[in-house]
Amino acid sequence: MILSFYCDDTSPGVAGAKAFETFLDYCAKQGIRGEASAILGTGGHSMARNPSAEEKAFLQQVARAWECGIDTHMEIMTHRGLFDFAANREKKDVVHEGLWLHEPAVTVQEYQRYFGDILAEGQRGGVRFTGFTWPGCSCEACTKRYAELRASGHRAPNPAMWQALLNLAKEGKFRGRTVPCFFDSSETEGTIHRKASDGAYGVYDLMPNAGDHFGIWENNPQRVDPDYYITADGKSGILVRHLQAGAPYCIWYAHWQGLNPARGVGWPAFTTVAERIDKHLQGQVVWMRPSDITDRYHAANGWSFVGSM
Ligand SMILES: [Zn+2]
Repeated sequence: MILSFYCDDTSPGVAGAKAFETFLDYCAKQGIRGEASAILGTGGHSMARNPSAEEKAFLQQVARAWECGIDTHMEIMTHRGLFDFAANREKKDVVHEGLWLHEPAVTVQEYQRYFGDILAEGQRGGVRFTGFTWPGCSCEACTKRYAELRASGHRAPNPAMWQALLNLAKEGKFRGRTVPCFFDSSETEGTIHRKASDGAYGVYDLMPNAGDHFGIWENNPQRVDPDYYITADGKSGILVRHLQAGAPYCIWYAHWQGLNPARGVGWPAFTTVAERIDKHLQGQVVWMRPSDITDRYHAANGWSFVGSM
């Protein structure tokens, strides 16, 4: 079984560059593979232009994430309102990015321009994006509009968005030829969905089938539970259940607020889980970054590669 994870909300504002360096060093040393997002405009401006010392140090770490086994998703530019790239600031009183991905009237060209601008900012800052994460938001405006969209039958993201990602992958703007995306998750229904493809290129919704028990975005000690993943005796937990059920992967998600080694209440649990996996599941699981999973799935047109790893 493949093991991987997504870490959302990664930015120097949550925990400094040093914390991200510690995280990357740990993953590299333990052979852990996964993903951590980079939100380049989270400070209200693009950190790829005139970065502060902290932002510069953070970008240097993001640039070495790949060699440490960690993918980099754009969790869109701000995780809030749409960004004005000409003015280098977040626009005022505009739709939030996550909601905008669901607005039915947005065109492929509009998505492609916006995503392309973020990829270009990444290039400016030495960051190569591998995939895409939907930024969830429960603000009043988003909640109201999501409800309206659902009521009118728009439960899924605008399909034009997947096409825009595919077009950019074909232009070589992403690191690889397949683009893993993280939108929804489900412990029971978590699976992979091909959203757009053309020859060697593909865009996939690679759903986590395990949740965040590393403190979530609240950095809340009551939301920390390593046993959820694997118990100390290695006999239960969701990893073990997915393994016993013959699932091709167990992918969980986390948030940098809880996971970061500087202040995150979930960090000791993360290292505990990694140690338990090492101790109990050796030979039965293989860590893999999300973009490797979608590359191999796309090349094999299914999960047949998992048995032969
Ligand atoms: Zn919102």
